[in-house]
Amino acid sequence: MKNVPQDVPPTIEAKIAVALERISEAFRVLLWDAAKTHGLSPIQVQLLVFIESHKPEMCKVSFLASEFNMTKATISDSVKALLRKNLVVTMTDATDTRSFTIALTDEGHRIARQASGFAGALEQSVTRLPETQKSEMYTGLLALIADLNRRQVITEQRMCFNCAYYMQDSGLGFCKLLDIFLTEKTLRVDCPEFEPVLT
Ligand code: SF4
Repeated sequence: MKNVPQDVPPTIEAKIAVALERISEAFRVLLWDAAKTHGLSPIQVQLLVFIESHKPEMCKVSFLASEFNMTKATISDSVKALLRKNLVVTMTDATDTRSFTIALTDEGHRIARQASGFAGALEQSVTRLPETQKSEMYTGLLALIADLNRRQVITEQRMCFNCAYYMQDSGLGFCKLLDIFLTEKTLRVDCPEFEPVLT
């Protein structure tokens, strides 16, 4: 009898990777829709939304280039376009005249607030999941992001698993700064108090 090659079923890891690719496609489509609504490019929308919700020291070209895994030249071009549209202003650093911080104008704030809900359709789908599934998904995704960060696939993420204030206490995650146990309700993915671990 002739040997017929059997199809090897995809592993669960491979199926999860394909599923994540589909989610990232949904994210990309929603971002494009938001960008079109405001006559901006997707990265211009992402910059406005990021500047709206982060400290001034994070709103510099070099930090933004690292945050969005882009070159400084690409970020500078987007910032120039936002300046022309009067959505941002630049403020020279008093201690270093070569460095500047980017801030939103009133119109920039207005558009950033409107555009910040661009992933709302994704959140609505998550809302429909059972609570236990949401918790498992959140902790699983945080662990995945932390591992991708450790293997330098993505840049540093301001989240608990990478933070100098994170410790284990009686088998549970604990934040030394906020003095709280870290459960799926308190684990943070973009924490303003984050401190990188010094190596
Ligand atoms: S400071 Fe923020 S990121 Fe760091 S462990 Fe505490 S809650 Fe998590």
